[in-house]
Amino acid sequence: MPELPEVETTKNELSPWLRGQNFTQVIIFDPKLIFNASVKEFCRQLIMQRIEKINRRGKYLIFNLTSEQVLIMHLRMTGALLVNPKRIDSYARAAFNFSNGIQVVFSDRRRLGILYLVRNADAVVGKLGPEPLDKNFTPSTLAKILKRHHIPIKAALIDQNLIAGIGNMYADEILFASRINPLQKADALSIQEIQILHHCTCKILQSAINDKGASVDTYTRPSGHLGAAQSNFKVAHRYGEICTICSTPLQRVSVRGRGSYFCPHCQPPA
Ligand SMILES: [Zn+2]
Repeated sequence: MPELPEVETTKNELSPWLRGQNFTQVIIFDPKLIFNASVKEFCRQLIMQRIEKINRRGKYLIFNLTSEQVLIMHLRMTGALLVNPKRIDSYARAAFNFSNGIQVVFSDRRRLGILYLVRNADAVVGKLGPEPLDKNFTPSTLAKILKRHHIPIKAALIDQNLIAGIGNMYADEILFASRINPLQKADALSIQEIQILHHCTCKILQSAINDKGASVDTYTRPSGHLGAAQSNFKVAHRYGEICTICSTPLQRVSVRGRGSYFCPHCQPPA
């Protein structure tokens, strides 16, 4: 569930704690957390490494280290990085101690999150599509991407190889704000619709970052505080409710196996 705004918030709030700090202890409670390396080797390589900078790419957190390696984390459905939690519960999959005395716990109820330690970040994030909040992501960039895909626009928005960072809930919010039906084909959108879609994509994502992400399901900020973006949601996580604009009951449709929520009146089929 953590999408671009939640991962960006995690990055923004972890950075002041961790930038310039060394790993002094790495404790792995669940070896399946680590991709393609033994726990022993993973810990050995991280100890005493300093975090130079934390970046985000799509839904990935990228920790630049003093060595030639990069630590990459994907939170998947329920992962969260918590700073100095009051206690380490059974959802903790790893704990990292730092030279300033800070402890960061990787908590993950559904245990789908994953950590990579690689020499080149492109091995993990190289195939991701452009960042939607990057200044180079223009309406014409979006138009070029969508023109090549005869698939529902909802499926295009959540395909990480086309655009990075948008998941199920923000895609539904973006399409509602754009008044576009989730089943409309990506390559059939007009230039005007693409301009609106681009504008709403930036607006919805930036607004959710300003609200520190959406605390639906299990997401919490590193401090343990909640995000507030869900209070602006118009369709996501609101199934069974009515449209805030026209009072029509919201509907659900399955797009590529993902439940998509929309207003049949405000977002009519093309
Ligand atoms: Zn409506």
